[in-house]
Amino acid sequence: MIRIEKKREPRALSEYRKLPYASYEGMHGASTGRDNGEDVYHVVLDSLIKEQGCLCAYCMRTIPEKRGTPAATIEHIIPQSKDPEKALSYQNMLAVCSGNRNAKSSSFSKSSKTQHLV
Ligand SMILES: [Zn+2]
Repeated sequence: MIRIEKKREPRALSEYRKLPYASYEGMHGASTGRDNGEDVYHVVLDSLIKEQGCLCAYCMRTIPEKRGTPAATIEHIIPQSKDPEKALSYQNMLAVCSGNRNAKSSSFSKSSKTQHLV
């Protein structure tokens, strides 16, 4: 585990949390008020990645970027199921790589030859 100096949370998150319908899932697609097309989720994720020095909080590997979008997701230190109050707490969030998630899915799909002779 690396020691992460938590900085101040992004303003987009503070603003979003004030909304009565604010939820962790709702951060996806929630407008930040800026016109660059970023949603609240990505602003928070970006900020987490930067303060972790671009390293995954789980495996310590550099978080890869695909076309400028980091291949990472937000993880809660205390799970939402245990403490829903902390679901939108910046102090309870970490950025982790999403590298292992789909690694094995596509490579074997075409190798098994199913021959249907009609
Ligand atoms: Zn990782």
